[in-house]
Amino acid sequence: MPRHAPAPGRFAPAFRRPVLAMAAALAAGLLTVATPSASAAATSGNGLCEAGYVGLTYDDGPTPEYTLPLLSALRENGVRATLFNIGEKAEKNPELVAAEKKAGMWIANHSWSHPNLTRLPEEEIESELGRTQDLLEEITGTVTTLFRPPFGSTDATVKGVAESLGMTEIIWDVDTRDWSGRSAEEIVEEAVTVQSGEIILMHDGYPATIEAIPAIVENLRSRDLCPGMISPTTGKAVEPADDPISP
Ligand code: ZN
Repeated sequence: MPRHAPAPGRFAPAFRRPVLAMAAALAAGLLTVATPSASAAATSGNGLCEAGYVGLTYDDGPTPEYTLPLLSALRENGVRATLFNIGEKAEKNPELVAAEKKAGMWIANHSWSHPNLTRLPEEEIESELGRTQDLLEEITGTVTTLFRPPFGSTDATVKGVAESLGMTEIIWDVDTRDWSGRSAEEIVEEAVTVQSGEIILMHDGYPATIEAIPAIVENLRSRDLCPGMISPTTGKAVEPADDPISP
């Protein structure tokens, strides 16, 4: 689908006079090319996120096989995502976590060893989250403020431990089930059901997930939605801030 061109009524006042002049010129048959307003929208980036923001999230990394291709695909498509990293994988591949950060992604906590946290005593939950928290801060220099429980399995204790460590628990709104052998087309079909403020669950670990990125981004742009950061305050996808993971 073509990129959305803003309607004249949405221009800032400064643009209105040239647009009127352009309309007069067009009416006189003097011009047949694109208006300057269209190029202004393209260069400023304004107008493309008017419908709001959604959160692209990728769990279970970093992985030696897929993290770098995933980052390349995200960057090539001009989008940022939130990456819920597993502590023990981050310990084995700290350079990949650093690459995620350098690529402009938001780094988040997905526990140390990916257990079902609701089956663990509180001290072990604290260890799973706290060790990961410390390691991610050591690698990135930033305190992580978002946490996603493995399998989305949580209860009041898990949520409370996350909060005591300064993290907000984030689940998801749209599950692409990309881990289940789905094709890129099937992942796209699911992902594009996302609405403003909502969060899409995907994983660092499948070629089809990476292959799905351009079509997901194209669909979002056609709907004036932009991938954004997840607010630790509201748990919703919002416009990225200058310091994206500060509360
Ligand atoms: Zn997971």
